[in-house]
Amino acid sequence: MKIEIITIGDEILSGHTVDTNAAFLASSLTDNGFEVSFLSSTGDSIDMMITAFRLALSRAEIIITTGGLGPTDDDITKKAIVKVFKRNLIYHEEILEDIKKRFERRGLEMPAINQNQALLPQGAKIFPNSFGSAVGLCLTENNKTFISLPGVPLEAKQIFNDEVLPFLNNLTQTKSFKIIKLRTTGIIESKLAELIKPKLELTSNVKLAYLPTYGGVDLRIMATGETDEEAEDSALKLKRYLETTVGKYIYGTDNDSLEAVIGQLLIDNDKTLATAESCTGGYLGSLITSIPGASGYFPGGVVTYSNESKQRDINVPLDIIESHGAVSEECAVAMADGCRKKFDTDYALSITGIAGPEGGTDPKPVGTTYIGLASAHNNYARRFNFGN
Ligand code: ATP
Ligand code: MG
Repeated sequence: MKIEIITIGDEILSGHTVDTNAAFLASSLTDNGFEVSFLSSTGDSIDMMITAFRLALSRAEIIITTGGLGPTDDDITKKAIVKVFKRNLIYHEEILEDIKKRFERRGLEMPAINQNQALLPQGAKIFPNSFGSAVGLCLTENNKTFISLPGVPLEAKQIFNDEVLPFLNNLTQTKSFKIIKLRTTGIIESKLAELIKPKLELTSNVKLAYLPTYGGVDLRIMATGETDEEAEDSALKLKRYLETTVGKYIYGTDNDSLEAVIGQLLIDNDKTLATAESCTGGYLGSLITSIPGASGYFPGGVVTYSNESKQRDINVPLDIIESHGAVSEECAVAMADGCRKKFDTDYALSITGIAGPEGGTDPKPVGTTYIGLASAHNNYARRFNFGN
């Protein structure tokens, strides 16, 4: 079944609102085994909407729109729907009562224009909205399903997750499918592909996608089958192949994050970690402490931005900074070592680099970064270049 998403609103066309609804809907649909064939956006004009809706109905079986279900004059999605489907708007007493109660609970009187929201296209199925007054709508005609959701992202998400997804699952009875995401880091996409490709055997029911992010490249396996077992077996077969070819770069699956995986390793091994950061200004510490339970292994970190701070706070010797520079292997090692001793931890990580835009030189261009690691047995640092 082809699914098309249309997001509605002048603010999307102007670029002032980033279209997160389209991204949310498309990724949720994909993760649930549906295939989105078109994404588009239209402004708050009835003619544009009618054109977009007709085009979508001509090429997709399921259409999902967001936006323009509010009570104000610029909210005209329902008007466009009734034109396209040649229906009338019907007044729903029970919906008006709901909206009135919603206002009462907040100690407000319902403005008269909210009455508009109880007017719905004839024959529409209603998806209730837990967070707002605009209900979601669904019209079915000639084997086409047209679903309309409010624009506010929280509301669109709630209605989609609680109402639309179960409805679509029921409607389409999709094949069984299994998605596994393998998360890699420390290797670029093209190098991964070079390692994976030579012996890769993909059957027609299995797909592999490379999804690069700042922190690494995710490998998304998507397998379909007549039964859950068949889909799962196919996905696991590819997973095992990837583990044997690029396993050393894989740190987790699905929603694992590097900081959570590392936190769990520290807990499992009863170890602690501290951080000393220069160019990242505390970002690494922020990532680490974003994980619930980080206090069990992370007593703290320091931002040692200036040379003075590096000396004063974590005892980096002045002669290292003078002879090698603050962005150097030697300084990164001294930062990690000094930090580990200061916090009395099993490990310490340090980061020192040239973030730019100024400060780059030929031997050390902008992006040059040293990451140091200290432990009771060994201190070392590696050089990276992260470009801009
Ligand atoms: P309301 O009752 O709030 O008027 P509505 O269904 O009419 O709901 P819109 O008026 O289209 O929704 O949008 C409300 C707000 O939701 C917008 O101001 C915008 O901030 C946000 N929004 C709308 N569409 C999107 C989208 N596609 N992606 C992200 N945010 C959106
Ligand atoms: Mg609105």
